[in-house]
Amino acid sequence: MYICTRCNQLVPGPVKGKCPRGHLLTDPHLLSGTREQSFGEAFFKTLGACIVIFLATAAVLALLKKPSSSAGYILVAMIAIGILALFRGLKWKRQGGAVARLVPRATGMAVACILAGGGLFALGMALNLIR
Ligand SMILES: [Zn+2]
Repeated sequence: MYICTRCNQLVPGPVKGKCPRGHLLTDPHLLSGTREQSFGEAFFKTLGACIVIFLATAAVLALLKKPSSSAGYILVAMIAIGILALFRGLKWKRQGGAVARLVPRATGMAVACILAGGGLFALGMALNLIR
């Protein structure tokens, strides 16, 4: 089920990715559509995406012969995105109504970003990739 965060209403039948009043059914904090998702689904999808992005960045850095420490910035960005998603989730929770249904997705994504960012950072430090 899609949810319009501006109307704070469920959108059972989105038209071209928009709500009946013409708002785009996306949210910059979720970096994607505002479709209802369980905590687990959001968590694993985000975790997978974070790892793919990190590996892709590390591969590009290796190809360009740049120090792999630059990959640390990506991890910091992931943690920052996670924190922003967490705060957005808390805001939706306080706001209540239809947007509260997006809270599991926002928190799932937030926890995955923070864990992936922090975990990969710790791993990078342990392997001496990030200094
Ligand atoms: Zn709307």
